Amino acid sequence: MPSETENILELEKQYVLQTYARAPFVLDHGQGCWLYDTEGRAYLDCAAGIAVNALGHADPELVTALTEQAGKLWHVSNLFHTAPHARLAKQLCDTSFADRVFFANSGAEANEGAFKFARKWAREHFGEAKTAIVAFTGAFHGRTFAALAATPREKYQAPFRPLLPGVRIAPFNDLAGTAAVMGDDVCAVIIEPVQGEGGIHPATPEFLAGLRQLCDRHHALLIFDEIQCGMGRTGHLWAHQGYGITPDILTAAKPLAGGLPMGAILMTQRVADVMHVGEHGSTFAAGPLVAAVAERVVRRIADPAFLADVRAKGDYLMERLEEINSPHITEVRGCGLMIGVDLDVAAADVIAAGHRHGLILINAGTNTLRLVPPLIISRGEIDLLVERLRGVLAEL
Ligand SMILES: *Cc1c(COP(=O)(O)O)cnc(C)c1O
Repeated sequence: MPSETENILELEKQYVLQTYARAPFVLDHGQGCWLYDTEGRAYLDCAAGIAVNALGHADPELVTALTEQAGKLWHVSNLFHTAPHARLAKQLCDTSFADRVFFANSGAEANEGAFKFARKWAREHFGEAKTAIVAFTGAFHGRTFAALAATPREKYQAPFRPLLPGVRIAPFNDLAGTAAVMGDDVCAVIIEPVQGEGGIHPATPEFLAGLRQLCDRHHALLIFDEIQCGMGRTGHLWAHQGYGITPDILTAAKPLAGGLPMGAILMTQRVADVMHVGEHGSTFAAGPLVAAVAERVVRRIADPAFLADVRAKGDYLMERLEEINSPHITEVRGCGLMIGVDLDVAAADVIAAGHRHGLILINAGTNTLRLVPPLIISRGEIDLLVERLRGVLAEL
């Protein structure tokens, strides 16, 4: 007789659209940085649900916030006021450059909104012709049509053309190359200060500073997609705060509500000024349930002591990784707890072996491991991660 685990794997294979190559086990519950499958095996979580579960699994404060709110009010739509929504918006503005927030339900949706606001802003101030958007090689902004147009990867784009017109791709970290595609018809430049999916590539400080100048010269808005690198991941609440360069719009999502779906578009007042009642919306966004949890997530992560700890643990993880000294590691880079490990073998092989060693790992491109553990990971757990990874690499 097939086991319950085999039954679940079989159901997925038969009934779920096969757009993911899922790991061959079924996760059942989690606690802190640990995940447990239906066979009782424990895994150290080095992925955090793709940089989402910043406070780990089953955090007691988040569980309490969620269950208390669940017994009170779940959903009323954005036609009505609710307290968590308004308080969360204030928190995000108080901890950033922003004057206003619009909430969404995912990262892609936040970027779609950011593009719409940028086009509206440009149209209002400069007329009909200023609609182009500049994005970068190696970028990932999401799977919806506009976000996809700004995500230059053949495998993602080719089957779905035509994409949103008017998106230009410039070379990442190459200011002269970017200046060459800039023009007065550009309404916005969108960039991840640290590219995630593209392989954990930080923008250089000179590049971000140069983009700020280019945007100002051409009256374009600078959008930072901090969906992956924001919310404490780099050891700064917002990655750009580590660079000292300020955008006009910032998009956030992944860790914002600790694992519940939520996105946000943060903006300055001059952007907010062009958006009026009825011009954008969302049925679900920032409902009381997700917003009540997000309030706790933002409060915890914005604590300077928490952020200093992320920076220190990021440095520690980087040091320990460099000590591994495996011939299979060709480069280690990143900032805070967002680290890419380049390999001379397929990341997929290391990920599969990692499962047998009790590690949940993910990749960012074919040859790069992406280490984005919960931000609450302890030094002892970092040691274990490194020991197990060393064991995996030694086996190859
Ligand atoms: C994950 C991601 C997105 C898309 O977010 P979804 O919630 O999957 O739509 C956009 N930008 C960046 C940088 C991301 O990492």
